[in-house]
Parts: sequence; structure tokens; C-alpha cells
Amino acid sequence: MSDRHASSGPLVEGPHDPEHDPTASYALDRGYVRNLTRRLAATSGRTTELRSPIGDQPLAHVPQSSEEDVDEAFRRARRAQESWARTPLDARAAALLRLHDLVLDHREEIIDLICLESGKARKHAFEEPMHIALTARYYGRTAHDHFDSRRVRGLFPVLTRVEVNRVPKGVVGVISPWNYPFTMALCDGLPALLAGNAVVAKPDGQAMLSALLAAHLLEQAGIPPELWQVVAGPGPEIGPALVQRADHICFTGSTGTGRLVARGCADRLIGCSLELGGKNPILVLRDADLDKATEGAVRAGFASAGQMCVSMERLFVADQVYDRFLERFVARTEAMTLGATLDWGNDMGTLTSSQQLERVTAHVDDAVAKGARVLTGGRARPDLSPFFYEPTILEGVTPEMTCFGEETFGPVVSAYRFLDESEAVARANDGHYGLNASIYSQDGRRARAIAQRIRCGSVNINEGFAASFASIEAPMGGMRSSGLGRRQGREGALRFTEAQSVATQRVLPIAPRFGLSDKTFGKVMSAGLRVMNRLGRA
Ligand code: NAD
Repeated sequence: MSDRHASSGPLVEGPHDPEHDPTASYALDRGYVRNLTRRLAATSGRTTELRSPIGDQPLAHVPQSSEEDVDEAFRRARRAQESWARTPLDARAAALLRLHDLVLDHREEIIDLICLESGKARKHAFEEPMHIALTARYYGRTAHDHFDSRRVRGLFPVLTRVEVNRVPKGVVGVISPWNYPFTMALCDGLPALLAGNAVVAKPDGQAMLSALLAAHLLEQAGIPPELWQVVAGPGPEIGPALVQRADHICFTGSTGTGRLVARGCADRLIGCSLELGGKNPILVLRDADLDKATEGAVRAGFASAGQMCVSMERLFVADQVYDRFLERFVARTEAMTLGATLDWGNDMGTLTSSQQLERVTAHVDDAVAKGARVLTGGRARPDLSPFFYEPTILEGVTPEMTCFGEETFGPVVSAYRFLDESEAVARANDGHYGLNASIYSQDGRRARAIAQRIRCGSVNINEGFAASFASIEAPMGGMRSSGLGRRQGREGALRFTEAQSVATQRVLPIAPRFGLSDKTFGKVMSAGLRVMNRLGRA
């Protein structure tokens, strides 16, 4: 066993779990798995096998929830939420700050589970505990900025006193995908908890153990276990059961499923925040530092094997530097270390499932059949792991090809030339997504001016995605079909509250007094409004 696992890691060698499959070689200790799955609200007696994309090996059998389990999870969460909402904000914030340290202490264990469930390279899995530590610290330290009651201007100075309170919504349902198993399990729920809500989480089945480890760490940080319920089961069955019961839904996943969730929320008149797909562009301007842009494009295109909502799939390069840039980008991509193992040192891991491999293969094959050129990659690598696909760069992609406008969600980048900035902006804005964009230029002012013309929720300059994603005070989310609402920052906190205005009228009522007729009162009020406007009062 390597140093990485020398602590109390979950990994074991050799065959395990003969109960279900005497021939299987399980990577995880069964006692460890049982300790995690005890947190599930799941009494149906059904289990689902969870396999690792690394070698397609079985990992665990995960108990599944019934609709009654979801019902019970909400009942418990509601009970716990009532006293949690009365817990002082400082005590709630302190739990997040304890979580910050716990996540850093347990980061190798967390990364092991992320790698096993997702197949991503260790250095990409590392981003997840980092992101959660940053999120916990940001919200833990800024709790009062977001949730304290606040005085606002009343109708009449002195006479009308108004406070705006932030009331927790109640129980928040969090439906999350498999691509960031640990980050997605926690990043929305943390500000929801801090605001005084309870959470019922439904992670994707492929991310279940990371999500349960997240719940376990929350408990260690002092969050009452009843306050954070985890349910498991097929999305089309258990997802709607959450939508039917929650007071707000945070959904992260595909645009298609997001629309279904939004319809369900509309029927119940509850709020939702939707973090959906993207077809993200990167612009390399003619004055870009080409070495930096090459490194950035490799990370933005191929981190987590391109299975990130913020991954770059469309590369627009200024005509003057196109050939020089592409030569470097292809060479750098071909020099990447590929591998589906738990070790540090891989530049890219495997796709997460056979469905992902089918999708990526279909997108590339369709493009090639319609005339696109493969500059590098373009093939599966079953010799590395069953679902592995090489980092791929395409040229000559045209609108009739599926990967022109549809999200591939894999390591496939299409390269295009542009002649001037207006063309680059127009093409970046083409299509219906609007999640993330990136601009490489040595002229920061010019790049920021271009950024303002791009219809994306985040634009990174001289970076692919991490500068905005890891700046937790910056709101993150999509325009157009990439989503509704924002996670992170103030917006990411306030969505879990209802604004309640409490207005106290003092001394004089807002009605005629001292024998004034309604008509005279109307005149006095109109004159008063004019005076206020002259005085520049809002
Ligand atoms: P998906 O929409 O298939 O599944 C997401 C989640 O929804 C899973 O937990 C799933 O079980 C559940 N679900 C499935 N059907 C449901 C239904 N009818 N009602 C309620 N819930 C249901 O997405 P995916 O394939 O797991 O994830 C990949 C997609 O997620 C990509 O499009 C990617 O861009 C997007 N994504 C976006 C962000 C972001 O922050 N914008 C982050 C990660 C992933």
C-alpha cells in the first residue's frame, strides 16, 4: 500500500463481499462502506451495485430508497429544521468552519472515493475538497453579511422604520450529478444549512459514497444528522419525489432534466436554482501568450476528462496565431500522461461510464463521417480502462455535426479560426448555452471589454475555469439554457431565504390627519414627493 493510503484510508487489497459476488474483487472495505451507507434513508430492501470506472470493478452495494423513505426523510428534516433555525447564526457558522478543517484533514480519503467513483485523475479530484473547504470558509466567515436583518429606507424618514429579515425556506432538496461527486454533494447545501434550512440530498447513484462521506463529515463538524438526509434511487423516480416535498430545489445536471425539474417546481410554486450544461468557448486572441494559452486549453478541455459543466469544447483562435497555437496545443495534448489509477501523475483519467463512452464516441464518429479532421486522439483506449477515451482535437467541425452545438461532456475540443473580435464574440455567443467562457490575451482591459459582450455567467481571462469557480464570492451559474439562479457569493446564499419586510409606522399614519381632506392630502403628498426628488432621495 502506498503512502497515500497509510492513514485510515478505505482501500483494501483482494477479493471482498462474497455475500454478493464471490468472484468479485472489491476495492473498498465492507465495514467502511457499511459505516457510510448507514446514513441513507433506505429501507426498501433493494440494493444497487456501484462499480468503479477504473477497471469497471464493483465497489459496493448501495441500499435504495422508496418513496416512503423520502417521505420519512422530509418528516425528520422538518422536525430538525425548526430548532436549527433558532440556533444562533454564529453556532451555525462555526460548524462550517469546523467542516473546513475536517475536509482538509480527510482530503486523501475523499480523493480516493472521488477517483474510484468518477475515474478522474487524482489531481483533478483534488480540486473537490479544496472547493468545499473554500466554500465552507467563505460562508462561515460571511454569514452575518448575508443573513442578518437589515434596515432599509422607509416611506417617510424617521416616521417609517423598515427591517428586512431573511427567513429560511424550510427543507431544501438537492439533486446532484456524478461528475463532481464530493463538490456537488455539498456546495449548494452548505449555504442552505447556514441560512437555517434542512437538506434532503439525492446524489447520483454513481456518486453515492462520496456524498455519504460528505454527510459523515458534516455530522463530525457538529451538524445534527437529522438535518442532512440522504436518499438513493433512480433519478426519474426519486428526483420527482423530492420536487413534490421540498420548499426549494437545487438541481445540477443536464438541461433536459433541468426543464422537467423546473416544471415540477412551477406546479408547486416553489423556487429552484438550476445549474445545467454548457458548450463553452475559449478565445485565443492574437496577442495571447501562446504557452499560457496552451496550458490553459489543455486544462480547460481535458480536466476530469472533459466531464465538467465548465469544460471548454469550442476553441476559437485568431487567424494570425492559429497555426502556431494549434501546433503547440496538439503537441502538449499528445504529451499528456493518461491513466486510470489512483496515483498522482496522471494528466487525464477515464470517462465515468459506458454511456459516457458511447456518447463521446458517437459525437466524434459523427463529426468524422461528415468531414471533420482529427488532429489528435479520436479513439477509445480500452487498454487503459474499459471506458477510456483519448483527449481529442477536431478541426473542420460544421453546424450539421452533433458536436458543433450539443454538449459532448467528454475530452473533445473543436478548433476554429476567427478573423476579428466581432466574429469571435458572435461565434462564442452562438447556440443556446451560456455557462462559462475563457479569453486569452495580454491586454487585460481589452479582454475584459470583450468579456462584457459574451453571454455567459462566468468569463475567465487567462484561465480556463478555475479563477471564477474557485472565487467563492463570485456568483456562478448559467445564462440562457445553462441555468437559472446562481450558486456561490451573496446570490448563492439568499436563494435559500425568503425576504420578509417588517415596517413600523410611527407618530403619523399614512392617511389624512388634522382634518385634511383626501384631495388636500393628495396634493401635500405629491408636493412631498417632488421635494424628495429634488433632494435626490431614493
Ligand atoms: P442528469 O440530468 O441526467 O442527472 C442529474 C441528476 O438528476 C442525477 O442525480 C439524476 O439521478 C437526477 N435525475 C434524473 N432524472 C430526473 C428527474 N426526472 N427528476 C429529477 N431528478 C432527476 O445529468 P448527468 O448526466 O448526471 O450530469 C451531466 C450534466 O450535468 C451535464 O449536462 C453537465 O453539464 C451538467 N452539470 C452542470 C453543472 C453546473 O454547475 N452547471 C455541474 C455539473 C454538471
